[in-house]
Amino acid sequence: MAQQMGNQPMIVLSEDSQRTSGDDAQSMNITAGKAVAEAVRTTLGPKGMDKMLVDSTGNVVVTNDGVTILKEMEIEHPAANMIVEVAETQEDEVGDGTTSAVVVSGELLSEAEDLLDQDIHATTLAQGYRQAAEEAKDILEDVSIDVDADDTEILEQIAATAMTGKGAENAKDLLADLVVRAVSSVADGNEVDTDNIKVEKIVGSAVENSELVEGVLVDKERVHENMPYLVEDADVAVLDDALEVQETEIDAEVNVTDPDQLQDFLDQEEEQLKEMVDQIVESGADVVFAQDGIDDMAQHYLAEEGVLATRRVKSDDATKLARATGATVVSNVNDIEADDLGFAGSVSQQEVGGSQQLLVEDVENAKSVTLLLRGGTEHVVDEIERAIEDSLGVVSVTLEDGKVLPGGGAPETELALQLRQFADSVGGREQLAVEAFADALEVGPRTLAENAGLDSIDSLVELRREHDAGNDAAGLDAYTGDVIDMEEEGVVEPLRVKTQAIESATEAAVMILRIDDVIAAGDLKGGQVDAGGDDDGGPPAGGPGGAPGGMGGGMGGGMGGMM
Ligand code: ADP
Ligand code: MG
Repeated sequence: MAQQMGNQPMIVLSEDSQRTSGDDAQSMNITAGKAVAEAVRTTLGPKGMDKMLVDSTGNVVVTNDGVTILKEMEIEHPAANMIVEVAETQEDEVGDGTTSAVVVSGELLSEAEDLLDQDIHATTLAQGYRQAAEEAKDILEDVSIDVDADDTEILEQIAATAMTGKGAENAKDLLADLVVRAVSSVADGNEVDTDNIKVEKIVGSAVENSELVEGVLVDKERVHENMPYLVEDADVAVLDDALEVQETEIDAEVNVTDPDQLQDFLDQEEEQLKEMVDQIVESGADVVFAQDGIDDMAQHYLAEEGVLATRRVKSDDATKLARATGATVVSNVNDIEADDLGFAGSVSQQEVGGSQQLLVEDVENAKSVTLLLRGGTEHVVDEIERAIEDSLGVVSVTLEDGKVLPGGGAPETELALQLRQFADSVGGREQLAVEAFADALEVGPRTLAENAGLDSIDSLVELRREHDAGNDAAGLDAYTGDVIDMEEEGVVEPLRVKTQAIESATEAAVMILRIDDVIAAGDLKGGQVDAGGDDDGGPPAGGPGGAPGGMGGGMGGGMGGMM
């Protein structure tokens, strides 16, 4: 591509770069964004279908989870990727609602397309959308319901709603109970760190046999066959050290002049190991978790003392053990003392999912727990795990925020109603954008109805009527097709699922709408769009279409903003 500067042609873009401008760029990006939403649309809601995804190596994933589908699809178009990011943000911030968020952003783009055709400027649209999103958050806040941390029934309903329509659904009641117990036991006030919930998948049994271990499960066996399988009322030592004589000491050159000297040397080593074990026994420890090795001789002494020990424990397991039992991680075994020890009602070796593992239970502070998920086949267990992750996310978020909303399209319908009223107060052309935003939100209930095989127009009309009459919890029962009170039905979701979805969907849609020029250093379809995108160093000024001199920098900056 060349531009004229004086009478000298100036080359500003490399030959194989691609540029699409104006309306073409806008409609290309909108189409790409809508395509992403279309891809996950049929999975939404209790009656949504699953997708089977096969990657380039032949791995198969069967899932209903929006973010998983989009990640597996390896989408390359830059605008489409912005919609994928909406799902990723939703996953990180809340753990659930990924499909809804993507479907809403697709619909915001679709509504925008109509307004752009009517010559409403993209900037006006963007302003209207942002205003509507702000107002939407206030409205949702107003209609949300307060929940206490000890309101187990509602927490279980929230856990169950997130599993609806997924592989976990069959054992929803049991799993919801496990999820709520898991989150409650790791919760610290209303702070929840789900990293403290270990999810262990076990293939080869029924979902109904899943269980929660309040304590820590360590995938290790006791090191010596003479050690006990079970220690009750255990004083637990957690070591970040080895029960070995340092290698360097063994390797040190020894001049042996007669056999006695060698024996002395070996005796000395044995003596050191014996001292270490004595130190441990003296501290009162019955169980030892060592992050490093344990010498054969030390194993033997420990077994003689009736201590259950295991070695090469992963450091994050060690951290969890210390946290759960109240032990201090000791970095030098010779310094160990009674008050470094933690306590567990029981430490036992058991077969879990086909391998021998150590189970540390009845701990004072079950701030880390293990959820044992069982399922018939690997694909089944994997999909249950994804549903459980969503469920853990929503229960945690509810404990943190203390606010929930009815599900089944109730909040979207309420928002659409109130936003249409709000639009009147906005005026100007933005009013049209706010109305478009309201229409777009109804894609939620509409899709729930479509996926349930219902007439979406009938369902929407009925929903609107109920909300008009002041029933702001009225939602669509996807099983019967009736419009019912979702709060009474126990279909509830955290407020944050909806506010986050609206926020990310709006941001992504607005970002896409404001782009009027796509310059790719290479073929867009070829997936080389990264080439320009990685270069964030360019000056922000002189974007595409700016002065020729600024073009080079503008390209990096422009594309960087798109990634
Ligand atoms: P997402 O990835 O957005 O969470 P889901 O497939 O989990 O997608 O569907 C979530 C939608 O399904 C929400 O709008 C939620 O309110 C709705 N939903 C969940 N359970 C029910 C139910 N029993 N009846 C009607 N709608 C439900
Ligand atoms: Mg969900």
